[in-house]
Amino acid sequence: MLKMIILDRDGVINQDSPAFIKSPAEWIPIPGSLEAIARLNQAGYRVVIASNQSGIARELFDMGSLNAIHQKLHNHAQQVGAAIDAIFFCPHAAIDNCDCRKPKAGMFDEIGKRFKVSLKGVPTVGDSLRDLQAGYVSGCLPYLVLTGKGQKTFDTGGLPPGTKVFPDLAAMVSLLLKTPTPA
Ligand SMILES: [Mg+2]
Ligand SMILES: [Zn+2]
Repeated sequence: MLKMIILDRDGVINQDSPAFIKSPAEWIPIPGSLEAIARLNQAGYRVVIASNQSGIARELFDMGSLNAIHQKLHNHAQQVGAAIDAIFFCPHAAIDNCDCRKPKAGMFDEIGKRFKVSLKGVPTVGDSLRDLQAGYVSGCLPYLVLTGKGQKTFDTGGLPPGTKVFPDLAAMVSLLLKTPTPA
């Protein structure tokens, strides 16, 4: 069986910003997150990102900028031996009423189709309620991290049943792989 994990991007892998991540310069990894992805890769996990990027619809940045941001993400990942298998993103705003913007499950459905896997039991990690909701309705196991908007999400409550909470991605991966976080 294919081992897979689905990650939100902003606030899970990199620092979030209320002003959106609009350029490669604004994309700053959360300490330990890329190393955690490398550990997932070593354990045989495919690592896939599912990210709402409504800044495109809001014209805060364009596809060229998003591609450049993701090139930086891939480059920094590669430097620590990590590989992201795919990045799915929704470029729409809420008003577009698309099927891909989380909390809807469209991106998760696409991931299942692309990799020809059932998402039942696949761990998904997010810092916002809508990440966990989209994963939950897709059959994924929801994990909340307290980085990014995570603490606020935790305080607000209403998390999907069975949501597990971790300080950050590194700690979540350590539990998933049952290995200690490297110093
Ligand atoms: Mg997020
Ligand atoms: Zn969309």
